[in-house]
Order: sequence, then structure tokens, then C-alpha cells
Amino acid sequence: MEKIFYAFGTVNYIQIEDEISEDKMDGIIKTALALDDQLSVFKPDSEIAKINNNAGVKSVKVSPNIITILKQACYYSEISQGAFDITIKPAVQLWNVGHKEQRIPTEVELDALKSWVDYQSIVIDEIENTVYLKKSGQAIDLGGIAKGYAQDLIKEKLVNAGVTSGILNFGGSIMTIGKKKNGAVWRVGIQDPLNKRGKSVGTIGLKDESLVTSAVNERFFKKDGVTYHHILDPHTLRPAQSGVLSVTATGGSAMELDALTTALFVLGMKKGIDLANQMGIDALYLLQNGEMYATNGFVSRDFILQTNNKNSGRIVG
Ligand code: ADP
Ligand code: MG
Repeated sequence: MEKIFYAFGTVNYIQIEDEISEDKMDGIIKTALALDDQLSVFKPDSEIAKINNNAGVKSVKVSPNIITILKQACYYSEISQGAFDITIKPAVQLWNVGHKEQRIPTEVELDALKSWVDYQSIVIDEIENTVYLKKSGQAIDLGGIAKGYAQDLIKEKLVNAGVTSGILNFGGSIMTIGKKKNGAVWRVGIQDPLNKRGKSVGTIGLKDESLVTSAVNERFFKKDGVTYHHILDPHTLRPAQSGVLSVTATGGSAMELDALTTALFVLGMKKGIDLANQMGIDALYLLQNGEMYATNGFVSRDFILQTNNKNSGRIVG
């Protein structure tokens, strides 16, 4: 059974190898669409929009799953020393990468936002189920974590419905359920960031696991020969200049990988490999200088490198 639906700003694809009823599947997709409504910053009625609209004013009552996501988001901020920070929204809005209003902000404009980008001023009350942003002007953006959260939840729902074999592709983020029915692992390509969509640097075998990539090739604009992309460094409020083209990670939780690949991108290869090892996830970096670096865990995986691409250099464990 195959289903395609649009949510989280992207096309999402579910393929399962077991039979479940259409009704059950439709119910699961409705869950995903409801999550999109709830988490999107673009929908004016979303709970996230309410939190943002009341920044510096008052705390807002939210659903328990929002509390869960925000707590996780803050945890990934802590462990990445702020490389992942959902309060990045005012800066995201100023750059507008990928939208027709995209432009390079002035130093003065960026300076004005500095005190707002600070995950430590997200106040979460787990007893009252409320969230408060301390400073007026602050805003949160779950673009770096929402899709992963949704993917974990949809996987869980499919498994609970009896699915033992399947693959979810949410805008390039992969989650697999079990193995294929023929007993083979799911074989998934890792996008070559210097090539067109679908061209991979290699393939990896996955069983009941997720594969997530953060890359510059998805959303960017060019001005005077410089590329400006959508992953911002919360410390500079500018596109992260870490020499990274893409970072891919594998592990059990799509949400963890979604947040961590964004953080690993910002941190760059050296600090990023350390963090990946510390977190027990396997990661692969493709760098602007053409080199590839991987954690030892990644190197020892079922990874088949394709040789006919510009990034086919060394893999360093
Ligand atoms: P994608 O979802 O496009 O694959 P990411 O998961 O890396 O990419 O998330 C990028 C999105 O997250 C951006 O579009 C922006 O909304 C938000 N974002 C950008 N920089 C950061 C950051 N340093 N920390 C948290 N979120 C970020
Ligand atoms: Mg991410």
C-alpha cells in the first residue's frame, strides 16, 4: 500500500508491505495533517503561533505533545551548546531563504535580534501545560524538529496497526519499519549535495531505523557568488559557515536525528563528530573541500560508496 500527502512544507510518502484497512491508513494520515496544523509557524491559528504572539506578554496553554517537543528541542540546544535553537525564528524570517522576499539583512538588523535568539528564555510549565517566551519579539520555529517528531509518531501508529514492514519518506527524511518482506534490508540513497535530486553518493542498508540529512542544497540563494542557505548559526544569525555541504545521520529516532543533523551542520565536522559519538549516533559529513568524514559507527555500517561523484574522496573514520 502506498500513500502520498503534503505536510510539513514537503511531500511525504508512505509505503507499507502489510495490508491494513484504507480507513486505518487514512486515520493515520489525518494524524499527520493535524500535527502539521498544530506545529506549523505558518498557520496563524497554530499553538506555536499563539506562543509567538504572546511573547513577553503571557504564558499560553498548549497540548501535552507541544510540551514534549519543546522540552526535547531545549535538550538538543543544551547538548549542542546552542547550535540548535528553535528561537532562531526572527532571524529565519529576516533572511527569508527560499521565499521571494529573501535577502541579506544588514548588520544593524541582525544585531537587533541578538537577544531574542536564546532558547534559555523559553519557560515551560509541565504542571500547568503552559509555555512562555520571556522577551517580546521572540518567536519559535519548529522547522528543524517537527518533521522528525511526526515521523516517529506515524511510525508508532503504523506499527500499532500491525505494520511490520514499510518505509516513510518525509521530504527526504527516511524512517523504516522492520525489513522488506523478502527479508532484505531497506536500501536508501544518500543525496549527493552537488548533484541533482536523486543522485546519491552511496547507499545504506536500514532496518527499523531512520536516516536524516541536513544540507545546503535544499533551500538557498546566491548573491555575488556567495551561497546563503537556510541553516542559520544561532551565534551569528547568519547561514552556518562550517564548510559543510551535508550531514547525514542514522539512528532510532527521526526527531533526534532531525534536531541533531541541524546541530551537526552548524557545529561543523570536528565538533560535530565528537557530539555524534557522544550521542551514540552514526554520522557522515560531506564537506565543501570534497572530503567525506564519518564516525567509526557509520564506517562499519552497510554503506556502499558510489565512486562517480565529486565527493568520492576519502572516508575517514
Ligand atoms: P530541512 O527540514 O529543510 O531538511 P533542517 O531539519 O536542517 O532542514 O531544518 C532547517 C529549518 O530549521 C530551517 O528552515 C529553519 O526553519 C530552522 N532552523 C534553521 N537554523 C536552525 C538552527 N540553528 N536551529 C534550529 N532550527 C533552525
Ligand atoms: Mg533538522
